[in-house]
Amino acid sequence: MTPSVVIVSNRLPISIKRTDHGLEFYPSVGGLATGLAAYVNDKRNKWIGWPGIASDDLTKSEREEITLELRKSNCYPVFLTQKQLDDYYSGYSNSILWPVFHDLEVRPDALEQHDKWWKAYKSVNSAFAGVVLALSDNNSTIWVHDYQLMSLPLMLRAVRPRAKIGFFLHIPFPSLKHFKQIPSAKRLLDGILGCDLVGMHTKRYTDNFLKACTDLTRDLVAPGQVIQGTHITRVTDFPMGIDYERFSKARELSAVKKEYRKHQRKYKGLRVILTVDRLDPTKGLVERLEAYQEFLRQNKPIRGKVIMVMLAVPSRTEIIEYKELKDHVEQLVADITKEFGTKTWQPIDYMYTTIPVESVTALYQVADVAFITPIRDGMNLVAKEYIASRPRRDGVLILSSTAGAAQELTDALIVNPKKQESMVDALYKAVKMPKRELRERVTNMHAHISTHTVQSWAKTFMGTLQKPLPGSAARTTRSLTRDRQQDVIDGLRRARHPAIFLDYDGVLAPHIINPAKAVPTKTVMAVLEKMSHIPNLDMAIISGRSKDDLMAWLGDLPIPLVAEHGACIRGESVKPSAKSKGRGAVTPLNLAWKRLTKTSPQWQFDVEPILEKYAANTPGSHVEAKDYSLVWHFRGASPYYAQKNLVILRRILKRHIASYGLEMHTGDKILEIKPSDVNKGVAVERLLNEWNKKSPVDFILCLGDDYTDEDMFEVLPTNAYTIKVGRGPTAARLRAKSVDETHNLLKKLVRLR
Ligand code: UDP
Repeated sequence: MTPSVVIVSNRLPISIKRTDHGLEFYPSVGGLATGLAAYVNDKRNKWIGWPGIASDDLTKSEREEITLELRKSNCYPVFLTQKQLDDYYSGYSNSILWPVFHDLEVRPDALEQHDKWWKAYKSVNSAFAGVVLALSDNNSTIWVHDYQLMSLPLMLRAVRPRAKIGFFLHIPFPSLKHFKQIPSAKRLLDGILGCDLVGMHTKRYTDNFLKACTDLTRDLVAPGQVIQGTHITRVTDFPMGIDYERFSKARELSAVKKEYRKHQRKYKGLRVILTVDRLDPTKGLVERLEAYQEFLRQNKPIRGKVIMVMLAVPSRTEIIEYKELKDHVEQLVADITKEFGTKTWQPIDYMYTTIPVESVTALYQVADVAFITPIRDGMNLVAKEYIASRPRRDGVLILSSTAGAAQELTDALIVNPKKQESMVDALYKAVKMPKRELRERVTNMHAHISTHTVQSWAKTFMGTLQKPLPGSAARTTRSLTRDRQQDVIDGLRRARHPAIFLDYDGVLAPHIINPAKAVPTKTVMAVLEKMSHIPNLDMAIISGRSKDDLMAWLGDLPIPLVAEHGACIRGESVKPSAKSKGRGAVTPLNLAWKRLTKTSPQWQFDVEPILEKYAANTPGSHVEAKDYSLVWHFRGASPYYAQKNLVILRRILKRHIASYGLEMHTGDKILEIKPSDVNKGVAVERLLNEWNKKSPVDFILCLGDDYTDEDMFEVLPTNAYTIKVGRGPTAARLRAKSVDETHNLLKKLVRLR
């Protein structure tokens, strides 16, 4: 059975307002409601959100009425008081997050209120969490929407560890510089990272998000992923589309036809330049009006032949900046009208109102040019709706490069919304554009938006959220509970020829800033010593360390040692009868080190100076040159510089990697380059082969902590006890939380016999 889906957004797809006749319920039209219609029409699924009216204005019976009425559409309300709305919505969300996320300055008086508003934000997110938890279980898929609910995923994760939780941000994710202005920035990231999948409109936004995680959290950031302990959050761009059918077929609707005829009459003989936006500082309305003014100044013959139809939709009217912006825009409209208007011609038709989607569509149809130049916009659906509404493949779209939609609608006239001449030139080009060019551009854009719809957007996001992480069995790895430890102990007790493979760093010794100091403790040595003398047990330490380190610390143990991830080995051949002699027996191992890689060492002369150069540029990092591999350690460096130089280094080294037959891996605060013909898996297979010659190995225990150990886990049979220590994706069956937990297990094992 498909699991139930719970959608959570600040607003429900149904809104409520009070009229003279009581409460009125009406659908909130918009892209999101359309895209998610398929889910919310299914009775098993639920949509949770604020119903659009403050709870202080409602009696108890009205709240009940709302709850019952909404339930008919599978919607569930989160009631919020006016005070909560002021602080969480108008305050934190719209006066701090909104400008910051659009790379705009926050008013100092708003920042002063930060702590109070942040408290309200968390408490409202927690009120949402209460409703979501009451309506979901561990098998639910929960999809949280937008910047008002960024703390919610973590709150849900704490109680629903196995639920699939997705988060989509409908606005841009800002540059690090802007994001860091928010005092609660890190806690916002922690909140989002509670989910399994983060979606944003463009790659630029996901890149910004990953950069912020690298800088502000201690989590491991990999391409498209943030890894926190055993939890992985995938981060991907999913550009949102529109309901293409609805706009492309709208001309068949009588309501749209009627509106269209009305507009046609009104703007007869004029070329219509349309702007449709909420009246919001991010939309660049002032800059746009000024550009139009300049366009009219520079092009006298065009006066009297064009009209700018400006639909400014009232928005957040309670916020002071929005009020000031309205005054500014209206003053400019008045100035332009005064400067150019005549008795028979008005240069601008300004409307400050919200109109039904049918009227908006009719405006799209009548407009020769859509002039859409936000300063910054997450996506901008108007741009896509305009194109979809032009069935005759005509109409020019002028679009800012800073709107998310510009990444897809590359056939628009792309402008810089901060450069007036760029917008003026585009207006001129638009009114003069030859029909053929115009048709070609619109046809290309049609092809894109007709296939990348809001429905396919929702489906792709949900599909990705349901899919297990590619290339990893992380979800089936179980934690090493007491019972499972007992299974391992019982397995060893029953075995006639057991085999144990141990990684060193992160398994026998914890990772520390200076790897040279990760000497094994007395207890670890005692455990290994005891283990190495268990009759019939074969064991090996398979490490990425140099043979010098291994010899210095573990050389006295009568067991095989594998250094540099399988590049060389000591003690591979064991004389059959010797091990049963017990403690203190003279080791029968062949103690000479043997080289296993066939790659020529020449590559190290080329690669080492490059690594050294970048290490010098990254204070706190250093290069380790082993016999067969090179490692850049950056555990002690600033995460920002380490990540930056890591990206550059990986790019530079690609050529050498290919020509010498090498492998490059980014591990736990290291970048490693080694020959590709050896790995720990090859070494394990080799040893198992050898050991099986004595008698079949009937128990395998293998412990490792990083990506190089995955090679061991992958070559071992499925009944082997493979244990990953710590966080990150793995093919291992079991996961130990820490080195301490590993030591406990090993201690229990040696007490056995
Ligand atoms: N819209 C509407 N009535 C209006 C003006 C706009 O229904 O009077 C719709 C428009 O069709 C579009 C949405 O509002 O779907 C605006 O979305 P967009 O992404 O362009 O901007 P946002 O307001 O989300 O920043």
